[in-house]
Amino acid sequence: MKVLVVNCGSSSLKYQLFNMEDESVLAKGLVDRIGLDGSVLNHQPTGKPKVPLTAEIKNHTIAIKMVLEALAHPEYGVVSSIEEIDAIGHRVVHGAEKFSDSVLISPAVLAALDEFTELAPLHNPPNIAGINACAEILPSVPQVGVFDTAFHQTMPKHAFLYGIPYEAYKKYGVRRYGFHGTSHKYVSQRAAEMIGDHMSNLRIITCHLGNGASITAIKNGKSIDTSMGFTPLEGLVMGTRCGDIDPAIPPYLMRKEGMTPDEVDTYLNKKSGVLGLSGLSSDFRDLEEAADKGNERAQLAIDVFAYTVRKYIGSYAAAMGGVDAIVFTAGLGENSPRMRDQICNGLEFLGTRVDAAKNAGRGKEQEISVDGSKVKIFVIPTNEELVIARDTKTICLPLVK
Ligand code: AMP
Repeated sequence: MKVLVVNCGSSSLKYQLFNMEDESVLAKGLVDRIGLDGSVLNHQPTGKPKVPLTAEIKNHTIAIKMVLEALAHPEYGVVSSIEEIDAIGHRVVHGAEKFSDSVLISPAVLAALDEFTELAPLHNPPNIAGINACAEILPSVPQVGVFDTAFHQTMPKHAFLYGIPYEAYKKYGVRRYGFHGTSHKYVSQRAAEMIGDHMSNLRIITCHLGNGASITAIKNGKSIDTSMGFTPLEGLVMGTRCGDIDPAIPPYLMRKEGMTPDEVDTYLNKKSGVLGLSGLSSDFRDLEEAADKGNERAQLAIDVFAYTVRKYIGSYAAAMGGVDAIVFTAGLGENSPRMRDQICNGLEFLGTRVDAAKNAGRGKEQEISVDGSKVKIFVIPTNEELVIARDTKTICLPLVK
């Protein structure tokens, strides 16, 4: 069975074609600058050179058409015809309270996604555009939606409600939803496999530390709390997002600086985080390099980030009555030994310590805690596309055979 995984952003489209017999990736790629000047498709057949394809790519339908042509191209394609694609899985950011699991796309599901656009105005519209584009070109191929929010639907009410009037939740759905669910689910399951125990016996804290960053407490296989909230702005200090702040700050800034609500939104989403703190960059590679050369604000941004992560780990250990494993994933979590070391420095009271030699590795799956640690620490590269492909296979297998 061949499954195409599609992840549409407002001006981008990432894809991977999986052969689900062995879960291998046949090709992957990225369409960039959709609807803008200089749009390009970078197609990467596995084991072969990257193929850059430039064209005017006005919308997601044209992007999907180009992707399918590339996949079945006589020279750099990986299938003889697009008929070989059995199912398509889409990353969908917001499933609100309606979807606690992946779902076969139907007109009713599309209508619900449209309704949730209010909750994810930047993310759900391109996800819907991608689904419509695939339906237009491959109308008989089943499509599945895999939601960033679904894994967190197990959170209890006491964890997902905010201390504001209950009516805001009932009337407008204002509550914690959480994001990066597919990643937290994947790495926690891998951690359980590496420990050799069942998820139902474990308390795991997963730290997805990339440009966007979130932490999740997973008890007995279920997300019981997570740091992102109503939107992906809450929680950890991120590349350009502020994370947790006193909610009195936005109106204060609006009055002081004459900012509009949209300007405050941009300020907190795009100009804050470690970028705002350092005044230098949102990329931790730049910050680490600058800190090494004595840039104090770069070091300060790193310190604030590491401190926030450590604080969340401590609070989630309390929320679960203990912890068996801590997992680091995503760009920073997978690739920065220094950040992992700084975060864990002070967690010894939990019964864990980082093994410096093991921690020196980058981007590979491994345990980095000292042998015999009560609490194990892992680095596990995330693979959200594989989760999407697996869910799509499970849902579509009975339909395509
Ligand atoms: P992601 O959003 O998961 O792609 O992660 C991107 C972020 O990971 C970048 O902005 C960097 O801050 C960070 N990152 C990636 N590689 C490294 C590295 N080798 N050292 C430190 N940070 C890294």
